[in-house]
Amino acid sequence: MINCDDAAKYFHEYLDKELSREDIWKVEEHLHKCRHCFGHVEFDRALRELLKKKMVETTLSPEIKQVIAKKLYQEVH
Ligand SMILES: [Zn+2]
Repeated sequence: MINCDDAAKYFHEYLDKELSREDIWKVEEHLHKCRHCFGHVEFDRALRELLKKKMVETTLSPEIKQVIAKKLYQEVH
């Protein structure tokens, strides 16, 4: 079973649905057992949805989006 550090490496691709079936299985197995990572992935997923909805038509730079993401992240942690 993979640990948190290994799982974290997969999160972006997992959310982008770019993982192989085998890797998805590894990530999901970890998420079932690890509330910390589960919360992290759920947060990332929610944040992506938010950014997609709110900012897709805006001209915000990736740097600004990063700052906003960080701020939101701190608020929920
Ligand atoms: Zn974990």
